[in-house]
Amino acid sequence: ISWTEGRGWHDAQLRPYAPLEVHPSNMILHYAQTIFEGLKAYRQPDGSVATFRPDANARRFQNSARRLAMPELPVETFVEACDLLVRQDADWVPGSGEESLYLRPFMIANENGLGVRPASEYLFIVIASPAGAYFPRGVKPVSVWLSEEYVRAAPGGMGAAKTGGNYAGSLAARAAAMEQGCDEVVWLDAVERRYVEEMGGMNLYFVYGEGSDARIVTPELTGTLLPGITRDSLLNIAQDMGFGTGEARISTDEWRTGNADGTLTEVFACGTAAVITPVGEVKSAHGQWLVGDGEPGPITKRLREALLAVQTGRAPDPHGWMHQLA
Ligand code: PMP
Repeated sequence: ISWTEGRGWHDAQLRPYAPLEVHPSNMILHYAQTIFEGLKAYRQPDGSVATFRPDANARRFQNSARRLAMPELPVETFVEACDLLVRQDADWVPGSGEESLYLRPFMIANENGLGVRPASEYLFIVIASPAGAYFPRGVKPVSVWLSEEYVRAAPGGMGAAKTGGNYAGSLAARAAAMEQGCDEVVWLDAVERRYVEEMGGMNLYFVYGEGSDARIVTPELTGTLLPGITRDSLLNIAQDMGFGTGEARISTDEWRTGNADGTLTEVFACGTAAVITPVGEVKSAHGQWLVGDGEPGPITKRLREALLAVQTGRAPDPHGWMHQLA
């Protein structure tokens, strides 16, 4: 779908996957005015297909658009475009279980010119790709590197938007994490480099205590981390299961000491791609520690199973999250 100043959104087309033609002076190549989303379509037990919370992705896409000085796409148009592609590609939605069809809606500037200003033309596109189970051999805890050298987002920056620049800026930290033998980066706040924000492409959760007394806490949305849709869904699911939940500032000191004295029992990350990934090991310039016993914790496993059961249609959907396609 195209957008032009004065004309708005127009010219929706369903086309075979093919290269895009851009001029070398296209503003997108230079000034990175680009936003995107990620969501999944799951096969349901009756053979139908449903997407998970596409309206939430559509609203986050609008927030990202505002931050990047881009035009907002109506929620219904975003959802309709995803529906159209999923219907077209219905045969590519895998049969069952954790496998899914991953959708990547995105918007880019599409104007030629070398001046720095918001473009006057844009393209909104949705592509799709089948996604296998993230952990085909069982859920494995990841090791994380606490990034004190690089920050992902500063107050007033673009941290709450899903835009390419955030990911470009994360790559050096990811390389540093790999050098330390870690799988992922954990970002800290830009001001004090003390408070935990999020992990690579996922939000984080901290579990205090055990069993039905457990309290499940996630870093609060300070404007410098992405408001994950999985994060929000798990806050609801944890409450439905009777757990105490909270959104708070969590420092790396608290993480280390809570882990050492046993009050902090499990840590996991969550996002569309992997649903839930346990964190098993933490490393920083000041030391390292293990979380749990190298296996996913019981509450991590229960929450993962509960969310996947809703997504794959094996459990009731009390919040109306599944968007059924005929
Ligand atoms: N943080 C970042 C930086 C991400 O890229 C993602 C993936 N979209 C998330 C968190 C998790 O968000 P969601 O649950 O909506 O996938």
